[in-house]
Amino acid sequence: MSRHNNSTCANIDLSVEYARGAFKRVYEGTYTKGSRKGESCVSKVFISGSVYEHSYFQHEMDVVEKATEIANKYNDLELIDKRIIINQPEIWRFKFGDRQLNLVEPMIDNFEKFNSNTGWKQDRTAWGQVMQSLAHFSFHCTGGQFTLCDLQGGVYSDGVVLTDPVVMSRNQRFGPTDLGGEGIDSFFSRHVCNEYCREWWTRPARRQATFAARKGTTMIRVQTQTGRSPLSR
Ligand SMILES: [Zn+2]
Repeated sequence: MSRHNNSTCANIDLSVEYARGAFKRVYEGTYTKGSRKGESCVSKVFISGSVYEHSYFQHEMDVVEKATEIANKYNDLELIDKRIIINQPEIWRFKFGDRQLNLVEPMIDNFEKFNSNTGWKQDRTAWGQVMQSLAHFSFHCTGGQFTLCDLQGGVYSDGVVLTDPVVMSRNQRFGPTDLGGEGIDSFFSRHVCNEYCREWWTRPARRQATFAARKGTTMIRVQTQTGRSPLSR
């Protein structure tokens, strides 16, 4: 399941930062066209000059695609009678100024965080437990290749809408929030199965906590070309 902009235009208020990440700023806006006209949206602007800028948009879109695929498989299990929906960002361009690219997606109400990419977790509530189960299932259903985590979003009457998830991969292909195989092992060293997990779901053989558990999203440096030696003749 996915939740889309269903719109082509919005007014973004750049005077107030709604939130700020290590390499992006988030602003609030209002759709001015389409079926969401009048509803709120968020705009994520990449902090200019960051070494990750060129790959940021592609990583975000790849993560959302993989997260949607995993959430759909989880929904198909019908472990719960509500749906897990992934908010779908689109790459839009500002009409004015330097016509900078940004990611636009619908605003989420009642925002809360259920786990992080290092295994911090909130599993006191039923939704908190379902989210830990979703993370466990993501490892199982991808043959141990991926872990969907950093699960956060809003609870609605018929399900939960997630935004900004992280997918960690064995070959660390999803950018600076993908902590790779060591991240997957760290995450599962802190995972405690609950009633929404199934005992036959696989988990990593290695249980080493390389990364400390933090509620915030942990990022690591991704190898770039700037560290390479110049060509010699
Ligand atoms: Zn589990």
